[in-house]
Amino acid sequence: MVHRHGLPPGLIGMAASMAGYILKNKARPRPEWQRDAAPRLAANELFPILGEKGAPTGAVADGATSTTGALARNPMLKKRFPLVLMLEPLHACNLTCTGCGRIREYESTITERLPLEECLAAVEECGAPIVSICGGEPMMYPQIGELVKGILERKRHIYLCTNGMFLVKRLHEFHPDRRFFFNVHLDGLEKTHDICVEREGVFREAIEGVKAAKAAGFLVCTNTTVYKETDMKEIEALFEYLEQFDVDGHMLSPAYGYTAVENREIFLSREDIREKFKGIDRIGRRFKLNNTPAYQEFLQGARELPCTAWGNPTYNVKGWKGPCYLITDGHYKTFEELMTQTPWENYGHGGPDPRCQDCMVHCGYEPSAALGINSKLGDGFRMLSWALSSGGGRLRVGLPPGSRLPAVGARPVGVVPLQRGRDPELAGSGAGGRGPARRLHQHGGMHWCNR
Ligand code: SF4
Ligand code: SF4
Repeated sequence: MVHRHGLPPGLIGMAASMAGYILKNKARPRPEWQRDAAPRLAANELFPILGEKGAPTGAVADGATSTTGALARNPMLKKRFPLVLMLEPLHACNLTCTGCGRIREYESTITERLPLEECLAAVEECGAPIVSICGGEPMMYPQIGELVKGILERKRHIYLCTNGMFLVKRLHEFHPDRRFFFNVHLDGLEKTHDICVEREGVFREAIEGVKAAKAAGFLVCTNTTVYKETDMKEIEALFEYLEQFDVDGHMLSPAYGYTAVENREIFLSREDIREKFKGIDRIGRRFKLNNTPAYQEFLQGARELPCTAWGNPTYNVKGWKGPCYLITDGHYKTFEELMTQTPWENYGHGGPDPRCQDCMVHCGYEPSAALGINSKLGDGFRMLSWALSSGGGRLRVGLPPGSRLPAVGARPVGVVPLQRGRDPELAGSGAGGRGPARRLHQHGGMHWCNR
């Protein structure tokens, strides 16, 4: 299982630089990021949490150790550094998807956007080697071409997460680069995807965008959220359909549920996720999956991983969002404040926070896989095979771009709002889910999105 899909030129160097970055930071993590915040929550301050199948928290159903057990003592959890920056230059969007979490949470700032200089300052401040530009719809950001150029000049790798609808129109603002990927969100074939985004024609426009980008020489991957209703056979059919365009890999992300959400039927519990992903090996043999092998095993329930949300920090118009891409317990003015004032031990499956109990999303757990936490004999060979033969061969670094994900309820703690001007171009435009989106939010479920 080697070289099945071939290697794009220059990407071995990208893998090497990422590996070097991880090794360097493992050996000498920056001390100013390692200070611990005092825990804000204690288990007995929350309602009692039961693990899966009624097992006490800390003993998960498959016998793997949860994050309150041996994994919680893994020394890597005390060596914090970022791998992927989730950069949200704006939250406005041209779509109004069911229960969009971003539009809901950031409704008061939906017309605001980060100045270009501030985006680039965030890239430098955190230093992550990969930047996932998301939102909202980042292709609505007026200086998106300049932003990509500026990040590439800083030698970072980029995933530009988009719904694909502006690709054809704005493609001329970009140049192909071996460190730059368009990441187009597709949740199924045409009918399913258009239902998910609640507008007919979105799938076709996205496909036109994929075709145009590939024809112009860009790297393009796709991102798919797996919901309770998702038919995994349709996902395989989608990937089969996309083969004709020679896309450069696929990311799969589970939607998930947590105990505090009333409308749980639309979410996936951990058991649901494992059931959905039990066939991921077969999919991975057929198609270029960008999820790392360790994360794929985690999704199948064959391996436990702790949450290392600090590996995937988010920056947006309100500042550094903590603790993670999904939960907002605060926004911090500086990256160092995010790293040192977030009580990381309160989060992750098996910890005291009920919102984390069903979470298996890549923003919390892919960094753990990439960092080799809870590694097994043979992982090195599996990683190499995956890197050479699958989507990893295209993306090298094996870390996920952001995805449209169900969000957990916001629990504001210590919010530090930053001052931003309102965007006159967006104000009153209806962008960002006015109208239909408000109605759709009545579903009670939320998801995050970077299409
Ligand atoms: S879920 Fe994504 S595509 Fe849908 S409205 Fe929200 S930001 Fe836009
Ligand atoms: S919601 Fe998920 S990613 Fe976020 S802190 Fe909890 S377990 Fe980690």
